[in-house]
Amino acid sequence: MTTAHTAFKNVVVAIDGPSGSGKSSTAKAIAIRANWKYLDTGALYRAATWLAIEKNLDSGNKIVEAIKESPIKFNCDPKNPLISVGDIDVSDAIRTLRITDQVSQYSQLPELRSYLLELQREIISESTNGIVVEGRDIGTVVAPDADLKVFLFADLSARTARREGELKEKIKSAEVSASLESRDLKDSTRKISPLRPAQDALELD
Ligand code: C5P
Repeated sequence: MTTAHTAFKNVVVAIDGPSGSGKSSTAKAIAIRANWKYLDTGALYRAATWLAIEKNLDSGNKIVEAIKESPIKFNCDPKNPLISVGDIDVSDAIRTLRITDQVSQYSQLPELRSYLLELQREIISESTNGIVVEGRDIGTVVAPDADLKVFLFADLSARTARREGELKEKIKSAEVSASLESRDLKDSTRKISPLRPAQDALELD
């Protein structure tokens, strides 16, 4: 569904790719260097998952209603990309293995995806000058007219090492690697907006 308004006035750089491929570090570095904004769309799906688990909600519609009551807000400063749900700062809470292991299940829900799609486009339109947006479907669905689309790859061992370094919990390599593989499989085989490079994306290993 890419029919809505997607031509943004500002410069949009889309960075997609599997988990742990280095999207965040790359996107933040570009945004800092260019003095642009930064949007981590995975954080929005993680925040929605956090809220769904917190309130024990399983349907897309109920999660969307809960988000309307406790809006998800992302601070687009690449040096301080915090995220909150209502009044609660969930920046750390959304990075736990509990959320990580469940996020792909919730991010398949069509109602949640279309709600977050609008939110992402709103955030992109509000950014002045330029914005670097990272996720799974930015070049294909969220901003198909982006000025530059990059699809980042990295092999599983490099992605595992990166994720291990980021995790606040102590988890065995084999578990981190299995969690990445299972999430990527779910993200790339789902019906709506699966993870895949846009036709005109620059594919980088
Ligand atoms: O980027 P990150 O690993 O934090 O993303 C968490 C999850 O959010 C992904 O595994 C995917 O299920 C979902 N996601 C998505 N579409 C995006 C960004 C993230 O479905 N644009």
